[in-house]
Amino acid sequence: MVSHVVACNERKDNMKSFDVVVIGGGPGGYVAAIRCAQLGLTTACVESWLNGENQPVLGGTCLNVGCIPSKALLDSSHHFSFIKHAAKEHGINAAGVTMDVHRMIQRKKNIVQTLTMGIAGLFKKNKVEWLKGHGRFISANQIEVKPVGEDSGEAYQVTAKHIIIATGSVPMTIPPAHVDNELIVDSTGALAFTDVPRRLGVIGAGVIGLELGSVWNRLGANVVVLEALNDFLAPVDRQLANEAEKLLRKQGLDIRLGARVTGTGCNNREVTVTYEDREGKQHVVFDKLIVAVGRKPNTQGLGASAVGIAMTERGFIEVDESCRTALANVYAIGDVVRGPMLAHKASEEGVAVAERIAGKAGHINYAAIPWVIYTWPEIAWVGKTEQALKAEGVAYRVGSFPMAASGRARAMGELDGMVKMISDARTDRILGLHILGPNASELISEAVVAVEFDGSSEDIARTIHAHPTLAEALHEAALAVDDRAIHF
Ligand code: FAD
Ligand code: NAD
Repeated sequence: MVSHVVACNERKDNMKSFDVVVIGGGPGGYVAAIRCAQLGLTTACVESWLNGENQPVLGGTCLNVGCIPSKALLDSSHHFSFIKHAAKEHGINAAGVTMDVHRMIQRKKNIVQTLTMGIAGLFKKNKVEWLKGHGRFISANQIEVKPVGEDSGEAYQVTAKHIIIATGSVPMTIPPAHVDNELIVDSTGALAFTDVPRRLGVIGAGVIGLELGSVWNRLGANVVVLEALNDFLAPVDRQLANEAEKLLRKQGLDIRLGARVTGTGCNNREVTVTYEDREGKQHVVFDKLIVAVGRKPNTQGLGASAVGIAMTERGFIEVDESCRTALANVYAIGDVVRGPMLAHKASEEGVAVAERIAGKAGHINYAAIPWVIYTWPEIAWVGKTEQALKAEGVAYRVGSFPMAASGRARAMGELDGMVKMISDARTDRILGLHILGPNASELISEAVVAVEFDGSSEDIARTIHAHPTLAEALHEAALAVDDRAIHF
């Protein structure tokens, strides 16, 4: 525990008092706390997460069981898949390659540990006091902290002029598939399999279903993905979603759309899933089943309603456009409020709220939040899809460029996918940029900057892109908006 008694005022009754108390130390909360401290506010962050060794840790869902561990496994499994399927094309002979799943999982654990310890170091550096426990509202200015882990002891109270709720989200469950953490797991369980399941079921072809389905598929599992909707990846631009569906099927994912799960039955070795689709009632048997049907806001034991903080019907904390709750001194950010459940959205809200508390003008452009799905190829976008613009009756122009026409993509042996730019027919302002391709997660940043600056397709078209790079595909898509792509 950092010694921060210097950073807060001790009241006569020994109740610590801060300018800001943040509840939750995920990417929303820990970033908010650091920014508050940078702005000279005395700050504490209450966090109740315990790792597998019962040690309190920071970082929330993202670092412990979300973004980081999933990307660690995606990278490991991508390397394995490359060596098995693509290395030969490069002249690399690597026969008899096997996967040591224990080692892969240990590597993931080490990465998580390094990064979560890093946040503790950042707290120390910035003089943020880490209160290791569960936080609950006593009043609009008072939080009770119930210690957790080895430090656990008597509950105590702290006071704060401002409180930021950043309690995040937890996996959603569905009645027909009760998570038992043995045969039926949620995303957390699916990040910790110690063997490759031979037959793996996934309920939900959303971001988690496709990312974790891809991990285990690459390692040899026969993966069946059951998706209730008829459309594959409904929020994604249709043209890219259709292409991605074909590619993922080709990789071996058995994606079954319009599949409504109605029940599961487990014996001690396998799980039978019953679902209904257009053809009627179906059964399928798996060794493991992942439930990935979305996440819900986490306000358990927070006592928010009791002090007058309003909630939405779906259990999110209700906030205005500046993340302020029904109580003037209490803000809420990240997954526990409206908007996309993304780590970078949570962090940006954290920064903006910290700045508002410090009397500055916190700013977030919700129209310029990038989305990434880390399948291979990756899918990334910013702004609106073509189908959304059509529905809104907006006049637009489209420029597309296939990865197969990119010199760099060809050199890499990564010919699948495309870049699609959509701009306003009248003003040429970029309305949407969609990428299906290698490293789309990195490439999208250029488009995000362009959208943030109200850029046009002409701006990108006039910008010099290094050759040979994948980014040239964005350049060519911008040229294509004006029908003047050079290489296609
Ligand atoms: P969280 O990260 O959920 O943190 C909330 C914290 O609050 C937790 O640590 C919790 O212990 C703590 N807490 C809750 N209640 C209390 C209380 N009463 N007292 C004390 N502490 C409390 N997003 C991306 O942008 N990119 C990705 O690649 C990505 N991959 C993901 C992969 C998976 C498998 C999952 C599950 C999620 C992924 N996400 C990804 C989503 C991302 O993890 C979340 O959007 C992000 O973590 C939200 O941040 P947050 O700070 O709002 O909440
Ligand atoms: P999701 O909303 O992306 O996908 C859930 C899917 O499950 C949807 O397609 C939905 O139609 C389907 N579904 C719901 N109920 C069903 C049922 N009964 N039977 C079959 N299908 C059903 O949610 P997720 O994949 O669980 O991810 C949760 C959140 O975590 C997302 O909001 C996402 O933003 C975040 N996340 C982000 C990333 C990333 O940024 N790369 C990665 C993982 C998670």
